Amino acid sequence: MKNGNLTRSGIQFEEPLLFENSTPGRKGCSFPTWKGKKHDIPPALARRQPARLPEISEPEVIRHYTRLSQWNFSIDTNFYPLGSCTMKYNPRLNEEVARYTGFAHVHPLQPQETVQGCLQLMYELERYLAEISGLSAVTLQPAAGAHGELTGILIMQAYLQSKGEKRRKILIPDSAHGTNPATAAFGGFEVVQIRTGRDGILTPEVLREYMKPDVAGLMLTNPNTLGLFERQILEVTGIVHEGGGLVYGDGANMNALMGKAKPGDLGIDILHFNLHKTFTTPHGGGGPGAGPVAVKKFLEPFLPVPRINMLPGGGAASAGGGPASGWSGAPTYALDFDQAQSIGRVRAFFGNFGMLVRAYTYIREMGPDGLQRASELAVLNANYIKARLLPHYHLPFGEGTLHEAVFSDKKQKDFHVSTLDIAKRLIDYGYHPPTIYFPLIVFGALMIEPTETETKSTLDQFCDAMIAIAQEAQTDPEKLQKAPHLSGHRRLDEAKAARELKVRYQF
Ligand SMILES: *Cc1c(COP(=O)(O)O)cnc(C)c1O
Repeated sequence: MKNGNLTRSGIQFEEPLLFENSTPGRKGCSFPTWKGKKHDIPPALARRQPARLPEISEPEVIRHYTRLSQWNFSIDTNFYPLGSCTMKYNPRLNEEVARYTGFAHVHPLQPQETVQGCLQLMYELERYLAEISGLSAVTLQPAAGAHGELTGILIMQAYLQSKGEKRRKILIPDSAHGTNPATAAFGGFEVVQIRTGRDGILTPEVLREYMKPDVAGLMLTNPNTLGLFERQILEVTGIVHEGGGLVYGDGANMNALMGKAKPGDLGIDILHFNLHKTFTTPHGGGGPGAGPVAVKKFLEPFLPVPRINMLPGGGAASAGGGPASGWSGAPTYALDFDQAQSIGRVRAFFGNFGMLVRAYTYIREMGPDGLQRASELAVLNANYIKARLLPHYHLPFGEGTLHEAVFSDKKQKDFHVSTLDIAKRLIDYGYHPPTIYFPLIVFGALMIEPTETETKSTLDQFCDAMIAIAQEAQTDPEKLQKAPHLSGHRRLDEAKAARELKVRYQF
């Protein structure tokens, strides 16, 4: 076992597989002996060889998983400045509310009159997200941002079909997140990449070149992945609309805009939220997400079903005469499957309901002023990091940074030190590296997003580490090229890891 001499500096991840700790004959639990006859099991289903499971004791299993859980790098343990991902702290209050038995133990197939509170929560969350986005109607079904994008693209397609239009192309700026072109292609559109202007934003001049009659729409992220507000957005969305197209807004960066600007007012027709980014629901490790989609009024008929309706005055008729009908005067919430133009379901039941409860709790806890303040502090924190690191790192697009700052390794290149070296060295200092080599239009990008939930002292410690690394690049470049030094593993051969995938344990 390698666990005995664990050192606690740098990020440590080292744990043998359960299979590697297997000892023949060792048992973790005891079952009663099988008293039936052999032929009780149909021969086709009977095992010919014992299952190849690790043979280990119960304490070994518990320790294995407990150690793994402790070695997980998370926002609850450390600063996690992953750009574009909005790794903000998840308030414990959200967790407490999500665990209320009325939410946690409800079954999605229960009769509607027994889940009125859940329906009310979803209905109100839709209204809040509509208010924040400046759009009319919302679906909560999509399970992630990319899934929201797909929902939006399907809505766009259904809308164009309803008008008998055959537009095949979607315009996407070269600064976009990779999910945007992937979604458009998956939805059956042809992707046309358009170039970002010299100051990092989309210009009306360039857009006009591409806005042809076969263009279905534009997918735009605002603020974009350089952390910059699209200053020409009103003209940009105007050009798309004049040309008969729709504007899809990637709302992953709403953390910079809450209470400051409404995408609907900026000409966005369809927008997805990432509740697991902006609205503090837990995030990372492939856990559940939520990517609600908001649309303008004219697109509402195309939203996924079921819709959630509020029937004012306790409309007991459609609630089926359950307890809700006894609450005289109270609104009743009812599911509506009857939408002829709907794109249908995009997810079983109602999406990741637990995420919806957390986001709802967060919004109610913060209130409009609190959400606005969160965006202001997120922008302030990113600009603080930008100001402290600017003397040490190259910042290709510096004008108007909002919630994240994108540096490059241009200054360190002189010493043969790259973004990857800087990221690996940060591990020695105990930090999760920021997002690297994205967006693609910044060579050697280091994309830092602190979020509003970090204190100035945390930001200072991180900046101190980044500045120390910039100095090491000049004095001891080899140290960076060979980093990390304090982690359980030295630097991996990433090309080999990608080409020779080992996804299965060999016995
Ligand atoms: C995170 C992100 C997405 C994708 O969202 P997921 O929830 O990860 O699917 C799309 N666009 C941008 C700009 C993002 O940051």
